[in-house]
Amino acid sequence: MIDFSDLEKRQKNSFGQQKQLIKQVMAGRKVLCAHCQQPLTLQTQPEFVVICCPDKCTELMLTAEK
Ligand SMILES: [Zn+2]
Repeated sequence: MIDFSDLEKRQKNSFGQQKQLIKQVMAGRKVLCAHCQQPLTLQTQPEFVVICCPDKCTELMLTAEK
């Protein structure tokens, strides 16, 4: 039997961190990529929003909230 509880906890944490990061970027704050330390940019499209760094090691896509 596989224990998923630890995995779920970690996923929840990283999702919470992503939400926090997205909030900061959308608020216009400068947020650096955890991997390459370059600033994340926000690209707003009609259907979705993308937050990524120049090297694309961080790339978060969100569907637009209506
Ligand atoms: Zn990066």
